[in-house]
Amino acid sequence: MSKFLRVNTTTGEVKFEEVPEKYMALGGRALTSQLVLDEVPPTCDPLGPYNKLVIAPGLLSGTNAPSSGRLSVGGKSPLTGGIKEANAGGIASQKLANLGIKAIILEGKPAGSDWYLLKVTPGGAELLPASDLAGKGTYEVTAICRERYGNKVAVITIGPAGEMLMPAAGVTNNDSDGNSSRYAGRGGLGAVMGSKKIKAIVVDSPTTFDAPVKEPERFKAAARKFAQILQNHPVTGQGLPNYGTNVLMNIINEAGTLPTRNFRFGRFDKAAEVSGEKLAEVAVARGGKATHACHPGCVMRCSNVYPMPDGKVCAPIEYETAWCFGPNLEIGDLDVIAKLNYICNDVGLDTIETGCTLGVLMEAGVIPFGDGEAAIKALEEVARGTPLGRIIGGGSANAGRVYGVTRVPAVKGQGIPAYDPRACKGNGVTYATTPMGADHTAGYAVTANILKVGGYVDPLKPEGQVELSRNLQIATAFIDSTGLCLFVAFAVLDNPEGMPTIVELLNARYGFNLTVDDVLNLGKQVLKAEREFNLKAGFTSADDRLPEFFSLEELPPHNTVFDVREEGLDQVFNF
Ligand code: SF4
Repeated sequence: MSKFLRVNTTTGEVKFEEVPEKYMALGGRALTSQLVLDEVPPTCDPLGPYNKLVIAPGLLSGTNAPSSGRLSVGGKSPLTGGIKEANAGGIASQKLANLGIKAIILEGKPAGSDWYLLKVTPGGAELLPASDLAGKGTYEVTAICRERYGNKVAVITIGPAGEMLMPAAGVTNNDSDGNSSRYAGRGGLGAVMGSKKIKAIVVDSPTTFDAPVKEPERFKAAARKFAQILQNHPVTGQGLPNYGTNVLMNIINEAGTLPTRNFRFGRFDKAAEVSGEKLAEVAVARGGKATHACHPGCVMRCSNVYPMPDGKVCAPIEYETAWCFGPNLEIGDLDVIAKLNYICNDVGLDTIETGCTLGVLMEAGVIPFGDGEAAIKALEEVARGTPLGRIIGGGSANAGRVYGVTRVPAVKGQGIPAYDPRACKGNGVTYATTPMGADHTAGYAVTANILKVGGYVDPLKPEGQVELSRNLQIATAFIDSTGLCLFVAFAVLDNPEGMPTIVELLNARYGFNLTVDDVLNLGKQVLKAEREFNLKAGFTSADDRLPEFFSLEELPPHNTVFDVREEGLDQVFNF
């Protein structure tokens, strides 16, 4: 029987609740977003007692469906002021699902300055004092918890950035090796967890793949078929497993849409030096791994383990991170990128937001472009809580206001990721309109714009981008609700058997009788709930726009501007 675990941090009450009928068929993003809409007043202070942090495994998490162990973390974002779902790998999702926990809901706000740890086991859940963990980085907290509670536990934690309520703070959990680098990074949900004075959540489950399945044989057959679909596709079967997400570096550079020097250019002359191919070569030579699974049961294994020169392990360097600390800052050195990544992971900051913020600081002349050592020094100030450290933890839009920079790549206050919207216009539509703030994962049009997966839409022209983004946002909202990694979409978009097989997995697991249309309607329902929250929080169509400079400055080498019409942007959610 699945249940909600509700923790009132004002009173210290910890209780399990039956899941109301309304939420039974929801999981992952669908569940976090619906609960946030139903239980969080949209105009509340994101760091006050009325906001809630909802942590939910996906509908297929905890089973042996391939790549299904993603975790959704939701709440009102202190970065955007709107609804947020941030999605992470790691082992927490599978463990929560195996304990029958459909969601953890952290609510209220304690009056004192003490910190707490929530321990969840098959025997129940309890809040324990944890002030001894305060001020520590996520690597140390995870190591201490694994030492105390066993090296098989999942540790969901925040770093000093979350404790200091920085709007760019993320929530991390560990992989099977104990590395605490699987981030629900975006939107500042680490600060929401910090506002509840919860330093860590330890999840101890003896099993990983034993969540109940209604029709095991049917499920097994569908899981086998889905694994095959993933393995047969060139991206999910070869590109991602061989070079990880950073295989995109050379591809996006070649396409002329690699944001360079704070979105001034679309190509970086040192892209090859920070590419997935180079990363794989260096990682393997140093005894690391070019391929790695962020949770057990992932067949795509797009992650990596990158040993730094000092012997510390930076696991992993993803494409977005390599981009935001690399081309975005004109840094062509993987070791500098790894160091910046390591500091971010440890202090508990979203790497994309932090890279965008450093780009703004460079634009302002606070740090020179290309100066890796200066960037490292600045980032080290976050843990110390200095004024500069707090500006960095405040995110890119805030840094722009502090330093009088208008070329700030952010939408709804959230930094734009690694594809320039002027030469990948489908992504531009997604950045502008998703309720999440600029987010490439919300509707990843790189598929049809650049990779020619699921069809082709010319990335340089405005035509067809609204429809492309709309369809992707709907499908993504559904996939984010299943616990499946979004990367399954590459294969699913190209294989007519893909979506029906996911539906088959859901039907076999729960005894549902869903069709593909039903699950796409679920995706629409998720987006409607998120839009409703944002509307009630005060967002208008003016918030569904890109920063002005994208329509004024041409991006070399294609010399295009973002020219999708505003009327089109307002039609994305016309369902
Ligand atoms: S494809 Fe990569 S990000 Fe996705 S679940 Fe597998 S290892 Fe994690």
